Amino acid sequence: MEQMLKGKVAVVTGGTRGIGYAIVKKYLEEGAVTVLCGSREETALKALDKLKAEMPGASVDAIWPDLSNRAAVSAEFLRIKEKYGSLDILANNAGISQNTSIFEYKDEDFDKILDLNIKAVYACSRAAAEIMKEQGGGVIINTSSIVSYNGQGSGCGYPASKFAVNGLTKSLSRELGRYNIRVNAVAPGVTRTDMVAVLPDEMIQPIIRNIPLGRMAEVEDIANAFLFLASDMASYVSGAILPVAGAVVI
Ligand code: NAD
Repeated sequence: MEQMLKGKVAVVTGGTRGIGYAIVKKYLEEGAVTVLCGSREETALKALDKLKAEMPGASVDAIWPDLSNRAAVSAEFLRIKEKYGSLDILANNAGISQNTSIFEYKDEDFDKILDLNIKAVYACSRAAAEIMKEQGGGVIINTSSIVSYNGQGSGCGYPASKFAVNGLTKSLSRELGRYNIRVNAVAPGVTRTDMVAVLPDEMIQPIIRNIPLGRMAEVEDIANAFLFLASDMASYVSGAILPVAGAVVI
């Protein structure tokens, strides 16, 4: 079967572990030159080595710009375009979460969450859109969350950032459609990654009991949605927030 992303060049932020790492693998399997973006040189190169060992011959590369620095992101994305000829797919996946009560929230932690979960999405989207506009099209996929529907009972900064991701996604899909740039988001439910591993069992078990499909998501479940939205199978899908959450209603 023809690879779904053959000839495409993709960037995946937060590609060193968890959902991002699974997206990088999926995009590589489907033939895209894929550049993973890590927060630090050390972790980015470690993930790169791991991928090269797991997928010999795959066209994978790594970068580690400060995602809160738009100029740094822009320069790095332009280098990718020069090196590989285009930048066709941007998966904005990097994100952090915190579960603190509002009464204990440190202001700097609130800023940190918004800086990565929304401001970096804006910075990366803008840098990529400038290239995509010039080359005649592209795809941006953001990472929302199922908590972007009704919030969550504590840790207000995280759902606030994901509501903002949905707003940015819908707005940019309208603004960038005329340039043949599709913009969508995936809203994962609770997914087995490091982000969830730190949560106490008494918090996780009731969540799983509430999921109609009876299990939490595996990273591959989420990566498959990122593949669909990146591919031509989704050629007329833009402005969608796709829940991948086992039919959970929260
Ligand atoms: P994770 O903690 O396993 O991975 C997070 C990734 O973000 C890592 O690659 C990390 O290097 C990167 N990152 C963290 N801080 C960074 C920074 N300052 N600059 C650049 N990169 C940074 O998390 P995950 O569970 O794989 O989450 C990935 C995305 O999915 C996030 O946006 C998260 O909000 C979202 N999400 C996760 C779940 C879940 O249950 N795991 C549910 C809904 C949404």
